[in-house]
Amino acid sequence: MTSKLKIPDYDDVYVGGDADLFMENNKPLAATAQTAFLEGINIGKNILRRINGKEEKDFHYSHKGTLIVLGSKHGIFTYKNINFDGKLAWYLRHLVYKLRFKQIT
Ligand SMILES: Cc1cc2nc3c(=O)[nH]c(=O)nc-3n(C[C@H](O)[C@H](O)[C@H](O)COP(=O)(O)OP(=O)(O)OC[C@H]3O[C@@H](n4cnc5c(N)ncnc54)[C@H](O)[C@@H]3O)c2cc1C
Repeated sequence: MTSKLKIPDYDDVYVGGDADLFMENNKPLAATAQTAFLEGINIGKNILRRINGKEEKDFHYSHKGTLIVLGSKHGIFTYKNINFDGKLAWYLRHLVYKLRFKQIT
């Protein structure tokens, strides 16, 4: 992947989400919804920049925290130095998805 989420040597082919393997600080980004979401925004904006004759911008990942569900009532929450797991994390994950991703909940 190039820094603009393109396949090397193919300037008009963008790849994001689970289909790519983007390296940030020599480490691959995790295949998560958060990565896919942020990459999608960068790709969309770069396509608009390209159409308008502007310079495209590099992608940089900024981690907003982690919310994971494990099973039917267990979850994991991490944000900066706050880490906990259990039922509350499970509820928080569902709440955030309901507010943020209305179309998939
Ligand atoms: C069981 C499970 C649990 C997960 N839990 C979490 C979690 O808690 N938190 C988290 O951040 N991430 C989680 N993930 C990872 C997250 O779902 C993916 O990283 C994210 O969905 C990737 O987004 P994407 O847009 O790249 O791909 P997808 O969300 O897979 O979207 C790809 C879309 O392309 C469509 N498609 C495929 N082939 C074609 C075709 N030929 N033509 C047209 N359309 C096509 C598919 O139907 C699909 O709608 C989980 C993944 C799995 C499998």
